[in-house]
Amino acid sequence: MRRSSGHWFVFRGSELLVRLEGEAAHLPRAEEVAAHAGDPLAVGELAGGVCQVAAWDAEPPEGMAFHGLRRLWGLLPEEAWRLAGRAVQLLDWDRNHRFCGRCGTPTERHPTERARVCPRCSLQAFPRLSPAVITLVEDGDRMLLARSPHFAPGVYSTLAGFVEPGESLEEAVVREVREEVGVELADLRYFGSQPWPFPNSLMIGFLARYAGGEIRRQEEEIEDARWFTADDLPGLPSPMSIARRLVEDFLARTSPPAGRGG
Ligand SMILES: [Zn+2]
Repeated sequence: MRRSSGHWFVFRGSELLVRLEGEAAHLPRAEEVAAHAGDPLAVGELAGGVCQVAAWDAEPPEGMAFHGLRRLWGLLPEEAWRLAGRAVQLLDWDRNHRFCGRCGTPTERHPTERARVCPRCSLQAFPRLSPAVITLVEDGDRMLLARSPHFAPGVYSTLAGFVEPGESLEEAVVREVREEVGVELADLRYFGSQPWPFPNSLMIGFLARYAGGEIRRQEEEIEDARWFTADDLPGLPSPMSIARRLVEDFLARTSPPAGRGG
């Protein structure tokens, strides 16, 4: 038998209710929030117990506060942080599909599937995921990084973009890199993936070899793009991102093993 852990993910907008103690964040338990939180949804298990997610539109309880998930990275245990990302997406999906998108009838939760169903026309709405590819382009000991205008000053990152309907992941990588910086690729290799709940992406990471072309940036999206080596690095993306893992992987493969020139 699964017991209820009593842990709740309670969101106001996209911010999560926690109790902060020093450098640690704690999730509320059922008895602290259940009476005032909206209609809960089961999210998954944490430490063997079933967790719930619910919305909250009032002031936080005494001693607790709402914080964005980016701020809570490293403060919540990793498993709880990942589940919080799942929770906010399920909650968003649930509250954004209360009416049928085809006929406007109020929907109902499906009794067994993770879906909302229209009782009139049977249209089903499932949680939406938006896959995005993210690519580190390398050429010997240099990697191609770019910055978009909304990045923090000095920060450069790998190239990323959403997959379009009818497109394979590999096609998306080639198209995005060509559109954003005008270079051609060879030897695409899958690197890994990361759920990215801002708001509902799945980041799919690739490594690719530079195969030609001069950097020609897409001006609206790319403020600057250039080649970097291990000895000449810009500000790097957050350690919580797969972009950072791609860069760290590249640096581990290309940096001299015994330190960099003493
Ligand atoms: Zn309908």
